[in-house]
Amino acid sequence: MNLEEYQGVWVFIEQNEGEIEGVSLELLGAGRKLADKLEVPLAGVLLGDGIRQLANQVIYYGADEVYIIDHPVLKDYRTESYMKGVILLAEKYKPEIFLYGATPNGKDLASAVATDLSTGLTADTTMLDIDLENRLFEASRPAFGGNIMATILCKKHRPQMATVRPKVMKALEPDQSRQGKIMEETISLKEEEMRTKVLQIVKDVSNTANLADAHVIVCGGKGMGDYQNFQLIHEFAKTIGASVGGSRDVVEAGWLPHSLQIGQTGETVTPKVFFAIGISGAIQHVVGMKNSEIIIAINKDPNAPIFDVATYGIVGDAMEILPKLIEQFKQVLKTSGGELSYV
Ligand code: FAD
Repeated sequence: MNLEEYQGVWVFIEQNEGEIEGVSLELLGAGRKLADKLEVPLAGVLLGDGIRQLANQVIYYGADEVYIIDHPVLKDYRTESYMKGVILLAEKYKPEIFLYGATPNGKDLASAVATDLSTGLTADTTMLDIDLENRLFEASRPAFGGNIMATILCKKHRPQMATVRPKVMKALEPDQSRQGKIMEETISLKEEEMRTKVLQIVKDVSNTANLADAHVIVCGGKGMGDYQNFQLIHEFAKTIGASVGGSRDVVEAGWLPHSLQIGQTGETVTPKVFFAIGISGAIQHVVGMKNSEIIIAINKDPNAPIFDVATYGIVGDAMEILPKLIEQFKQVLKTSGGELSYV
């Protein structure tokens, strides 16, 4: 393999029913930095049916180029059809780096493409960089239970591929004055040749989506003691219009469903305000919430590691503090006669 033939940074643009997923916009922000370091173009790869109008949005968020395949068979995501499209483009244009969101579809597609192109794939990364001296992509992710960050290189194969966790990278502010090149490829796909059929799409009705988009999260930990006390977390969240999350220990205790777990093996969240209540601050938890704008920790142990990442800390017993906070907020809301707004 002649590695020098491969140039440019690509981002797979995941879209659902004509709407681009947030993680793809975040990856355009991250990809922009990589492309600038390497002095190569950043391209978005957009597949679907009737999706041409999304190309400008991809450019506004940082891409120099957009590769499009628009075909009725690509209406809904399927491994087989999307893989064919992506491989056609990758073999023809030879990108050096190719990023995908670590979403169910992104992970599925990236692993299928990596296998077919006989290249490497680093899954679930949280940090991306370039070793300019050796012109290598550095994809890092937590390893060994989150105790170390492992940086993984793909030295001998191209493209260098990674899936990246949603909510870890930052999207750029869209710039409508940006201009880019839009290139459309044709593909021969026949519905009758597809081995899988989409019979019905059932929307995710779990609370996970709420959590990822929440402005305020009240996250409870094992320090709440038992299921009964944990109801104070729900009451506080309801009072201030926040979403509820929990640590893994809380999920394992059965106080919350796994869809509300925050951390390395749960959701990554970036709300404006994150309350960490009765949470020790284990690294595996912190990786999922440390990018929140304001972190308010309540813990009875002044040496709890959560205070290392907290913006504000309250040392004390949550069972005494929470009822007072609930009462105070209720009073404020009563006198102001409205909802709290988070701007
Ligand atoms: P604890 O560590 O037991 O902490 C409870 C805290 O509450 C303590 O700091 C204590 O001082 C405080 N406290 C006690 N009583 C009160 C009170 N009355 N008022 C105020 N404070 C009080 N964890 C996650 O959260 N998310 C993950 O995704 C995750 N993934 C993991 C993956 C792996 C591979 C491994 C090995 C672990 C993972 N963990 C994860 C587990 C993680 O290591 C911790 O065990 C877990 O986060 C601890 O949960 P906790 O903070 O609720 O409980």
